Amino acid sequence: MVYRRRSTEQRYVKYRKMMKQQAAPGCNFCQFSPEDKQVRVAHEHFLVTDNLFPYEIWDSHEVADHIMVVPRRHVEGIYQLNKTERAELMDVIAEYEEQGYSVYARAPENKQKSVAHQHTHLIKTHGKPKNMLFTSVKPYILWSK
Ligand SMILES: [Zn+2]
Repeated sequence: MVYRRRSTEQRYVKYRKMMKQQAAPGCNFCQFSPEDKQVRVAHEHFLVTDNLFPYEIWDSHEVADHIMVVPRRHVEGIYQLNKTERAELMDVIAEYEEQGYSVYARAPENKQKSVAHQHTHLIKTHGKPKNMLFTSVKPYILWSK
């Protein structure tokens, strides 16, 4: 069994600090620019970015890659996108799904959603199963190899 509380906890502290800074002047996701290092692809209405705090486990498997599709304009839900933006979002996520990425977006009211700005997670796993023994409130997760 591997107990990785410390590294996850350190990452969580960094994450909360970033979220706190974000709350002050505005939305960090609105600040993304196509020139940013973490931006992989710039589409007309969306940016595909690295997730700075990638999940380690998804669907009980090790995460190989965790990126996000972020609308360039501030919206909190997919329902606020216009038809052109919705069509582009579907094209983008379809492309990644074909490459083996799972697609996940939280509803605006979801209490686990840490950034109000709508974003869609694209998560690819290694296919190596991780048997979770116990889960609690983030970031305390125990699992075995
Ligand atoms: Zn925003």
